[in-house]
Amino acid sequence: MDYGHALEFGAFITPAAATPEAPVLLSQVAEASGLDLVTFQDHPYQPAFLDTWTLMSFVAARTDSIRIAPNVLNVPLRPPAVVARAAASIDLLSGGRFDLALGAGGFWDAIEAMGGTRLTPGQAVTALEEAIDLIRELWRTDARGGVFTDGRYHRVHGAKRGPRPAHDIPIHIGAYKPRMLSLTGRKGDGWLPSLGYMQPGDLAKGNAAIDEAAESVGRDPREIRRLLNVGRLAADPQEFAERLAQLALEDGIGTFILAGDDPNLLQRFGEEVAPAVRELVASERGTRGVSAAPVRSSAALAARRDGIAYDDVPAGLRAIEPGDFDYGDVRATYMRGGAPGLVLQPASAEQVAAAIGFARGHPELPLSVRSGGHGISGRSTNDGGIVIDLRRLDEIEVLDVDRRLVRIGPGARWAQVAAVLGEHGWALTSGDYGGVGVGGLATAGGIGLLAREQGLTIDHLRAAEVVLADGSLVRTDAETHPDLFWAVRGAGANVGIVTTFEFEVDEIGQVGYAQLAFQVDDVAAFLEGYGRIVEASPRDLTMFLMTGGPRPGQPQVVQLYGVVDSDDPDTIIARLQPFAELAPLVQQSVQLTTYAQIMGNADLGPQHGAGEPHSRSGLIEHVTPAFAAAAARMLQSGAVPFFQLRAVGGAVADVAEDATAYAHRSASFSVTALGSHPDRLDAQWREVAPHVDGSYLSFDSSQRPERIAEAFPPATLARLRVVKAAYDPTSVFRDNFAVEPAAPAEVDAA
Ligand SMILES: Cc1cc2nc3c(=O)[nH]c(=O)nc-3n(C[C@H](O)[C@H](O)[C@H](O)COP(=O)(O)OP(=O)(O)OC[C@H]3O[C@@H](n4cnc5c(N)ncnc54)[C@H](O)[C@@H]3O)c2cc1C
Repeated sequence: MDYGHALEFGAFITPAAATPEAPVLLSQVAEASGLDLVTFQDHPYQPAFLDTWTLMSFVAARTDSIRIAPNVLNVPLRPPAVVARAAASIDLLSGGRFDLALGAGGFWDAIEAMGGTRLTPGQAVTALEEAIDLIRELWRTDARGGVFTDGRYHRVHGAKRGPRPAHDIPIHIGAYKPRMLSLTGRKGDGWLPSLGYMQPGDLAKGNAAIDEAAESVGRDPREIRRLLNVGRLAADPQEFAERLAQLALEDGIGTFILAGDDPNLLQRFGEEVAPAVRELVASERGTRGVSAAPVRSSAALAARRDGIAYDDVPAGLRAIEPGDFDYGDVRATYMRGGAPGLVLQPASAEQVAAAIGFARGHPELPLSVRSGGHGISGRSTNDGGIVIDLRRLDEIEVLDVDRRLVRIGPGARWAQVAAVLGEHGWALTSGDYGGVGVGGLATAGGIGLLAREQGLTIDHLRAAEVVLADGSLVRTDAETHPDLFWAVRGAGANVGIVTTFEFEVDEIGQVGYAQLAFQVDDVAAFLEGYGRIVEASPRDLTMFLMTGGPRPGQPQVVQLYGVVDSDDPDTIIARLQPFAELAPLVQQSVQLTTYAQIMGNADLGPQHGAGEPHSRSGLIEHVTPAFAAAAARMLQSGAVPFFQLRAVGGAVADVAEDATAYAHRSASFSVTALGSHPDRLDAQWREVAPHVDGSYLSFDSSQRPERIAEAFPPATLARLRVVKAAYDPTSVFRDNFAVEPAAPAEVDAA
């Protein structure tokens, strides 16, 4: 039986304590000889041996490419929860070069002497099975809550998950007897016996037992790699290769691990025997028509969603499916839970086009476009549909130092952008959180901490490259496809996928960053005062306001945070002083720092949002007494635990209303209210709705059609619908404030 695994070759090295450098040097020889894997036995009760974990870590640090594994790990003396962490840690530290191989135990006297618990063979198998389940569960960092298991031999009560390994660490099992073989077939990723302990025919019998057990739980037996520890089976390399080829072709062995500590032998194994075996097996497989082992497990295939032609994903395009290891880290966004059927991660504009083409073949499925995954509007994840995830398009490149022209990919985050620009003494206003992605923000507006001085982020856009619904890649700027360029700046999600943004950015020095907290008795008066002071301030000040609902028995706390673009402490204090007169300050921090530093306090790790955000947005010209009173009443209701006013105005208003698809240029403030329940939130929002005009689409999660008219005033919407008809007539892009393409007559009339 040949399972069709790609052949691998490894070394089985004695972890001799007497010559501690020897196993390390042998590992380096193995790596230099082209071997795939270096492994070490694990007998923690044996004083003549180095501790295997410690040795493996050391070897990982002294090698670059070879994979490392225990052969096999003594589970009775290694608590599985700790094994999970240790394995994930070495995998992370080695760049995904760790394989785990586990054994049920043996040498019980020695184990007991070391403080372990003596088990019968049957108990040891059960204990190992519990250990495997527990280790895998602890690696599931996308799952919520701690891990609880009440096994017979291994119990954990709320163990925290993680760290997440760098790759899907396979778990091989050292097995000989029926119960262990059954466990290998049901739960193992590989079978790892030693040929020296086997009788003729044992490999075939073991394979049959594993295959039967695998099939009994719906697995494809080819999911289980067959590894084998071997000695030097023949002195002559060619004869050795023929013996191994026979084991591959007849007994399905995919990984040969040579036991021995002779560097010359290891070198010949890697340089002569391994290539000869590969050649012999490849030629015979060709003749026999052996198909390659499946890339995805039966469990992964079973997790596929209906209606997606998974096998038709364009070649070379990275695709993550629900059953894949990486899925847990790409399914959700910062604010939302999701369960997409397929996540495509293009690495170039051409691949974005291929991904759009694939999505066009599934018109009935939701299509989400994701850059940084911080969307509040926009469904950058979905349930059962396709996500085009642009995180790999994250380059940040300076194009022209004199013009301060930079090219930025949509997958970059604003913290990263700020850091790169900061090296040149530059900054581009973005938002107030560095984790937000470039793609979503720079296609909607970008209300950032330098807004009053620099305008919106889109106001700095000089050109963009966009993949359109038909898959064509176009460059757009003020002269080329000006209508598209207009739409990209405020309604970009409607017209295509932006793969490159070119921004002209500003110089900046050190700035003052203020975080002030006030105890507020009269919220309405405070809001009004904040608005008045901001509007009266020079443009070097951009200040945002944040507060929540009432807390029983506690005073209302309102926070202000923002930037004064000045490196002069006196100027900074002068700008902030008027706010200090609004209410008693309960906390204050004012730092002379850099814009990059302010944006740097962001978590750029995997996002595991759950549920659905409920957010409403409005824009106002001034914080009028009527608005302030309505907002205070809304806050008093308790339905809005998060409320924000952001300063816009200043340079934002310098841009003509019809210059970009973001049209609300006369607004001086953006208003955002987040609630936990959409109906309650909407009911309370009605308090402020009469006092706001328009909305900033990035802050509104509502999908009701009337939101479109709020985000885009009539003239803007009419123009946008014409542009939509030209560039996305069949509404391929519809996840974010989707406008209806104009009808032909409307296009003619435009
Ligand atoms: C914590 C937090 C803080 C925020 N602070 C600010 C702020 O200070 N100022 C501000 O203006 N906004 C802010 N936002 C809102 C933010 O601008 C939007 O949510 C924005 O869409 C996020 O961009 P993203 O790439 O991370 O989002 P994603 O979730 O990846 O994308 C959101 C939507 O944008 C569209 N989109 C994404 N990439 C592209 C692309 N390359 N081409 C075309 N369309 C695309 C899609 O419709 C997608 O559904 C904040 C959001 C959060 C969660």
